[in-house]
Amino acid sequence: MSALLITNIGELTTNVGSRDGDRFGALHDAAVLVEDGRIAWVGSALDAPAADETVDARGHAVIPGFVDSHSHLVFGGDRAAEFEARMAGQKYAAGGIRSTVAATRATSDDELRVRLRGFVDEMIAQGTTTVEIKSGYGLSIDDEERLVRLAAEVTPEVTFLGAHVIPAEYADRADEYVDLVIGPMLDACAAHSKWIDVFCETGAFTVEQSRRVLEAGIARGLQPRVHASQLGPGDGVRLAVELGAASVDHGTYLTDADVLALAASDTVLTLLPGVEFSTRQSYPDARRLIDAGVTVAIACDTNPGSSFTSSMPFCIAIAVRDMGMTPAEAVWAATAGGARALRRDDIGVIAAGARADVVLLKATSRTHLAYRPGVPLVQQVWKHGVAMLDAPTTGTEDHGSLTR
Ligand SMILES: [Zn+2]
Repeated sequence: MSALLITNIGELTTNVGSRDGDRFGALHDAAVLVEDGRIAWVGSALDAPAADETVDARGHAVIPGFVDSHSHLVFGGDRAAEFEARMAGQKYAAGGIRSTVAATRATSDDELRVRLRGFVDEMIAQGTTTVEIKSGYGLSIDDEERLVRLAAEVTPEVTFLGAHVIPAEYADRADEYVDLVIGPMLDACAAHSKWIDVFCETGAFTVEQSRRVLEAGIARGLQPRVHASQLGPGDGVRLAVELGAASVDHGTYLTDADVLALAASDTVLTLLPGVEFSTRQSYPDARRLIDAGVTVAIACDTNPGSSFTSSMPFCIAIAVRDMGMTPAEAVWAATAGGARALRRDDIGVIAAGARADVVLLKATSRTHLAYRPGVPLVQQVWKHGVAMLDAPTTGTEDHGSLTR
């Protein structure tokens, strides 16, 4: 396979501790060599080796591809009317997720697949090269199996979330539903899934039910992650830390004890800025978490009810504007932080040996991702070394032929 050199990079975010002590590993006037889908070399543009193809970044910034560690991309229908009414101040009866469950059950595999691939393409165009995808809109054995099977066609990071909400037909029989989830539903879904997840929240699953779900998944070789503390403080963070979850997600309402427990653990706290934006909840304080030593990731939580954005740059802008993160911290959280939330060390960094998931920005610095919100700043995306966008990459010869 031929070698690709991306050179004349004005600001290269490697996420590798660099000589000058910058923990975000920013290099200037840098170059990256890509070979066989991997990063082969990183260093000064002056020392760059020869390559078959060269892309001139013209002083622009390069970052690792975004790692979006939390999404719900397999579903039918949308909930635009619910959003419109919520923005107009109308009060909503419960049933949002259940309406998506009904729409999803009524949508064919082929149609779900077309929609799913459309969302993944949308994410790639915005710089996301790895995405975790959850089930959770099927809530029956056959429908949950469909969702994890379809998700596994586009990513290895598949999460079985049969315990998303209690479906209407089990309204007063939550424990019976948990029995179904950890019995035949898990049997049907485990082979397609890497992760087991549960929505541990008042109105969803209690901490005891959540523990049963997670322990059943762990017993089948799945790794735990948890939705918790989205609507109010609860016991989900403590449970996640106790069970060694890779990540606990939302964390809008955290107690001091939660923060201490997270800081002393290797469980990542994944913030989902699109949720607070789309529901008008108050934003969690990322500064408090980072200053306490918690590892923080940012993800989009793309879903039709509470966060229908697929844009990591948009979430970075919110995290900086409203959650107290610096631009460098937010970009780290959306790349290396997401990788940690998926327990991956081959992505989220630009270092020799890592997967060549690389984003070239139309900007001189990563800061522009927050400084210029809503502006499409992604020039080119390489996923596993392959250029993904039909975009004119400045200064390159013959680049369009690599597009796919
Ligand atoms: Zn979610």
